[in-house]
Amino acid sequence: MSSTSIPVPPARVESAHAIAAVLKPGLRVALTTHVNADGDGVGSEVALWHLLHARGLQPVIANATGIPDRFDFLVPSGADGSDRAGREIARADVIVVLDISDLGRIGDLAGAVRDRQVPVVCIDHHVSPGTLPAGPRLVAPEATATAELVFDLATALEWEVTADAARALYVGVLTDTGGFRFSNTTARALRVAAALLERGVDPESIYESVYASAPEGRVRLLGDVLQTLVVEPLGLAWVTVPPGALERHGATADDLDGIVEHARSIAGIRLALLFRQIANGRTKVSFRSMGSVDAAALAQTFGGGGHHKAAGASLEGPIADVQARVLAAARKSLNGGDA
Ligand code: 5GP
Ligand code: MN
Repeated sequence: MSSTSIPVPPARVESAHAIAAVLKPGLRVALTTHVNADGDGVGSEVALWHLLHARGLQPVIANATGIPDRFDFLVPSGADGSDRAGREIARADVIVVLDISDLGRIGDLAGAVRDRQVPVVCIDHHVSPGTLPAGPRLVAPEATATAELVFDLATALEWEVTADAARALYVGVLTDTGGFRFSNTTARALRVAAALLERGVDPESIYESVYASAPEGRVRLLGDVLQTLVVEPLGLAWVTVPPGALERHGATADDLDGIVEHARSIAGIRLALLFRQIANGRTKVSFRSMGSVDAAALAQTFGGGGHHKAAGASLEGPIADVQARVLAAARKSLNGGDA
């Protein structure tokens, strides 16, 4: 059995051909994703880098924020131009935005992407209004991960998925499903994962690189953040990153990934939140829900977005103010819905 036996929905095949039409050999292609790239953003970029490189294009990864260390093992030497991302966007013939459809989420690169008069391809699985400039789209909110869509692109176009590309796609599917545990773990996602294993992915070595190579500071940071846990009887739990905790432990935003899951893992919790002060006097909130509670809808009321069970927003204001506003809305939503 091979990936050719995983049928690609007709709409995705059509999108794949529209995308292929702007990806001609020789062209310079800037690949970018949302700020604080996660495993799906990086995995999708790296896989597409391999696919395009093999077809004679000149791809380069150009992210607004650096690729987290734990994904370095995926990135081919010379593929990451994020240290000069603005320049790469400025000289690209085509821009491909992966794992996000919102201009506002590509950080400092938003202006450059908006003002370029080149096709802006988007491959994404978020529910979003979509504020990118025109270009072919492969957007499917029902997809498990953007990596699944990149896999479909390759399948539809009969582009070979090498072992290197397969590893990157596997990281995307693995991380966006929380290790094949979340509700987006569909039968199809598991079939895609199986096809990736058939192309040479070693799941244990990927697990080690992604989840079992933590710097000590990440585990100590987890300890500090969990100390702040508050649980309310109506099914609400939240944690807060203490001021200076990242610096104290030599940690980065990526080291916070997954901490909110501990709050969600408590019996009876329907909504879990993580608060963190970020730059420019803003506070970042992560929303995770269980059952019918809609995390994306709540995040959207604060200008954010995401998926039904995992969403985020960045709000203006110090952490205490933002906490008061978001907690009030969260309590209201838990009292109102989800009978
Ligand atoms: P996380 O809480 O892990 O940062 O993000 C969870 C989900 O919410 C991801 O799908 C992410 O793309 C989305 N998300 C996080 N922060 C924001 C935000 O500020 N705006 C929007 N639109 N989506 C976000
Ligand atoms: Mn994703």
